[in-house]
Amino acid sequence: MSFDKLGLSPDLLKAVAKQGYTTPTPIQEQAIPLVLAGSDILASAQTGTGKTASFTLPILQILSKTEIKGRRQPRALILTPTRELAAQVSSNLRSYAQFTKLKSTVIYGGVNQRPQVMALQQGQDIVIATPGRLLDLYNQRHLSLKSISMFVLDEADRMLDMGFLGDIKKIISLMPGQRQNLMFSATFTEEIKRLTKDILHHPVKVDVSPPNSAVESISQMGFRVDKSKKKDLLVHLINDQNWNQALVFCRTKHGANNLSEKIESLGISSVAIHGNKSQGARTKALADFKRNKVRILVATDIAARGLDIPLLPHVVNFDLPNIPEDYVHRIGRTGRAGANGVAISFVSPDEKNYLRSIERLIDFNIPLEEVEGYYSPKMSSKNGNNRGEGKSGGKPTPARSSKSTKGKKGKSPSHQTVAAKPKNRKPKKRWY
Ligand code: AMP
Repeated sequence: MSFDKLGLSPDLLKAVAKQGYTTPTPIQEQAIPLVLAGSDILASAQTGTGKTASFTLPILQILSKTEIKGRRQPRALILTPTRELAAQVSSNLRSYAQFTKLKSTVIYGGVNQRPQVMALQQGQDIVIATPGRLLDLYNQRHLSLKSISMFVLDEADRMLDMGFLGDIKKIISLMPGQRQNLMFSATFTEEIKRLTKDILHHPVKVDVSPPNSAVESISQMGFRVDKSKKKDLLVHLINDQNWNQALVFCRTKHGANNLSEKIESLGISSVAIHGNKSQGARTKALADFKRNKVRILVATDIAARGLDIPLLPHVVNFDLPNIPEDYVHRIGRTGRAGANGVAISFVSPDEKNYLRSIERLIDFNIPLEEVEGYYSPKMSSKNGNNRGEGKSGGKPTPARSSKSTKGKKGKSPSHQTVAAKPKNRKPKKRWY
């Protein structure tokens, strides 16, 4: 299937070709014709699947058809949970819109509002925004939502996790009832299902991947490790396997700062990115990481959304997330747009319940290994967690980049993962 079969205009096809896209991704193939036909859609698509183009391209096409007389009012609103995602959607949209006459702007908090207000005063067709700043500017009468005919709620699950339900409802009440609605979510909780009833009218469901599953091109594995040895294990893996780019997730801002400082002190360039950093510092950290000026980006979950780092080879869960859905979002940072990636989880004995919840959610047993010197079963057995599964004899072999097959629980880990077959693998037993 090629892009010209999707019913897109020559201006958009030219922009897509300029991006180097040759074939539409599955979500694009399914969603673009539906949106062009005017349907509301409810899409379960994970980051890295090309979902941004699946809604921005048809929006651009639909809006280009109407000629604007007089001052432009926003006709499409794209809501995202984080500033990073808003900035990324905006940048993608601008490149797809480059041969059209449509104008777009992005609105998010944490930065001076003046340039955003000025952009709105110039008149815009599409606004990409995070909910808080949008309402803020609305309340100051800097924009009207009366002309919105297309509304996108991107990463709806994350919106709810971040407590935006009230803001979303308020924003919906400010738009005309007659509009086309597109909702995207990687995971589907009961709360999300309730929200879809409030927003969508007879939506067509678009499922390009089973909900709550990890993208197939991501190989998943884990290391059992003592909590106190996690930093050393990370440094060992970075050096031993000569990683040149890895995104490492910590649960707390303090932990992220600490870890990043420790890595830096050992001569490995690293920077932390989290909610306490100014928007300027976050943008710079991400830009440095993308330009390979920084090898290790240490992040909290705020960074799990909206970071588009093409071909990111390694994602490390230094701490397992306590919300299992965050695991899916975190590892979606690798294996993007069909590229292969490795997601490595460090599992200390106190995290076994987190591991269990994640495995239940993704319906997959993450194969666990040990590296000699970083895990002491004796110590862990005091905690009642001494169940062996694999030992890599001191040297974990670099993760293979071959595509892993997503395995269902109960299959042998050797069918599923990435790290070379460890020596002395004990009979398959879970740790817990
Ligand atoms: P998204 O899931 O929208 O964040 O997109 C993930 C990445 O895939 C981005 O870097 C896009 O530029 C890229 N991408 C989107 N659509 C295509 C396509 N049809 N072919 C190749 N890359 C794409």
